[in-house]
Amino acid sequence: MILLMGIAGSGKGTQGKMLSDQFGYHLISMGDVLRMYVTGEQRQRMLAGGLLDDNEIIKIVDQVLESVLDNEEVILDGFPRTVPQAEWLLEQVKSGRFQINNVFHLVASRGAVKERLLGRARIDDVEEAIEKRFDEYEKLTMPLIDWLTDHNVEVINIDAVRSQAEVNADIVSKLKKS
Ligand code: ADP
Repeated sequence: MILLMGIAGSGKGTQGKMLSDQFGYHLISMGDVLRMYVTGEQRQRMLAGGLLDDNEIIKIVDQVLESVLDNEEVILDGFPRTVPQAEWLLEQVKSGRFQINNVFHLVASRGAVKERLLGRARIDDVEEAIEKRFDEYEKLTMPLIDWLTDHNVEVINIDAVRSQAEVNADIVSKLKKS
């Protein structure tokens, strides 16, 4: 399993797609999965840039993983984003369901990615929702990087403020295969 983490707009989706196409891996984008599953009030919360409830997310990821788990590598873009999500993931690893081969953290400042998001034209890519996602990332996802390191999961920082090809080449050069 390859985990892609990073602030909104850091290029997780783009890099995930490049990797999956290059190596023939499964690609699970949490944002895309949630846009498929989530309705009503939860969907409004999502569009406003708020994170969804951990238990809900875990239930969905569990199902999606079950549907793809074979011997092929899986790229997870956007999961885990919180410590409880990561706790669940590490339990799965412990129980032998899969293993984590790589964790990449795409590093970019708010300033560097804001223009990218404003140019993307998704309905949650408006100023207020973008700021909310940045805040959620700082409050919940940043501490997760240290938490993973403390739990002996190596997190590789990747400078994401470069061209797509440069970021891709960097990730590929650091990719560890099982
Ligand atoms: P971005 O990378 O721009 O934040 P995504 O498409 O990855 O966009 O995610 C869109 C939204 O989906 C998030 O703002 C959040 O509401 C929800 N979401 C995605 N992944 C998770 C997660 N692991 N936990 C909780 N909410 C999530």
